[in-house]
Amino acid sequence: MFYLSTRGDEKVTGAEAIVKGLADNGGLYVPESFPQLSYEDIEAMSTMSYSERVAKILALFLDDYDEKGLQEACEKAYSKFVGDPTPLVRIDDGVYILELFNGPTCSYKDTSVLLMPYLLEEGLKKLGIKDKLFILTATTGDTGKSALESFKNMDGVKVMTLFPDDGVSKMQRLQLCAQEGDNVNVLAVKGSYDDCQAIVKDMFNNAEFKNELKQKGAILTTVNSINVGRILPQIAYYFSSYVDLLSGGQIEKGEVIDYSVPCGNFSNALAGYYAKLMGLPIRFMHCASNMNNALYEFMSTGVYNVGRGFYKTTSPSMDIMFSTNVERLVFEMSGRNGELTLSRMENLQVTGKYALASDEKAELTKSFVGGWANEDEVVEVVYDIFCEVGYTMDTHTGCAMKIAQDWYEKNKKDETKIVVVATTNPYKFPQDVLYCVTGNDVKDSFKGVKRLHAATAMTAPKALTALRDKPIRFNKTVAINKVAEEIFAFVE
Ligand SMILES: *Cc1c(COP(=O)(O)O)cnc(C)c1O
Repeated sequence: MFYLSTRGDEKVTGAEAIVKGLADNGGLYVPESFPQLSYEDIEAMSTMSYSERVAKILALFLDDYDEKGLQEACEKAYSKFVGDPTPLVRIDDGVYILELFNGPTCSYKDTSVLLMPYLLEEGLKKLGIKDKLFILTATTGDTGKSALESFKNMDGVKVMTLFPDDGVSKMQRLQLCAQEGDNVNVLAVKGSYDDCQAIVKDMFNNAEFKNELKQKGAILTTVNSINVGRILPQIAYYFSSYVDLLSGGQIEKGEVIDYSVPCGNFSNALAGYYAKLMGLPIRFMHCASNMNNALYEFMSTGVYNVGRGFYKTTSPSMDIMFSTNVERLVFEMSGRNGELTLSRMENLQVTGKYALASDEKAELTKSFVGGWANEDEVVEVVYDIFCEVGYTMDTHTGCAMKIAQDWYEKNKKDETKIVVVATTNPYKFPQDVLYCVTGNDVKDSFKGVKRLHAATAMTAPKALTALRDKPIRFNKTVAINKVAEEIFAFVE
């Protein structure tokens, strides 16, 4: 299986796509084709463990990797989860929550980032590259922590994370800034997540930086969802949750279902679409935004337009304007036209928007529905579900639940079942979630944890409660134009 750049020209192996992270022409790597799974193939997954299911999907896309090695890497990664890595919770008739946040850093990023050390190390071996790795990631709070934790103290690797100074929860900030390990660095940036992500992409095009790394015997890569190695494992939980519903008798053979996903950089929802392209019976991917709803407008009108106000919300991991992975989607909608995708991405940089043609829009509408929730609606839905069924969800998942509810309110006769994807542990946002379920406002994160526990009896993950006693190791905040300097300094 080869990988193509969404902006044309390039064609590389799986190992190359993963090690490079971003294509030379600035495009994103996508699989050359989507392997097809028959109903029997899907059903056969029912007797497999979650790690076996992921390994099976990965082996289809990464035929240059050793299948046994993939299997071992998956075993190792998912053994770090508490209990079932991807449990389903029934909320109502035909409404389920898929929890993806029971990994070591308590967000759904663990489902894919934890595999990146193996995918990168093996990739380097296959390519005969002896260089060290410099991993640069932008984060809205969750990817960064997962990356730092996955690569800490690894030989021949340095990992640096940029986060928006004002754009993560207090708990997320603590998680990042108390990070242990002698090969890690964390930097707060006076800007938005979009600024952080743009810096990462710029460093890939920075000849001076690449030269500097070369002299030190290192190469640059990223474990943001820019890297196709992040998308592939995410496809697996769509298959896995479908199989679990099937085994549990909640759906019938071949039954078509929907998913609702809290969207930021659009990697999660894209992976669901990829699963659909591989034959999983999915009707709609419902894509949830918060008040930063460029994606909603895109799904509704076919126009992607970032010329709008930016809001700081209680679901900061969704406070994104330039959703990177929409490029991969647009590439599919255009009939895999690299030239057209390139010109659209250039347009986006210059004019702040681009528009799909009507046939592309029609294609989009076949698989995607957009929706968004304002701040009051998030509070209401989290509160309602807590009162009605005693389930506590975080504010991001709240957006996805809200748009699912809106859909069934508008389409009363629709009996299609839906899985709402839960992306983070509520205790990562203890004050916000506490406010949703009790109306209680507290400033201190750990007070929030205590009260949230008192109100919900939900177990707080040790990885978060232990932060209370950890020293802060990183407390630097720099202006956007000073970030490159800091990155250069960390190469030393
Ligand atoms: C990363 C993240 C998202 C957005 O996921 P994408 O794949 O980037 O769309 C949503 N919610 C939470 C909690 C996240 O950490």
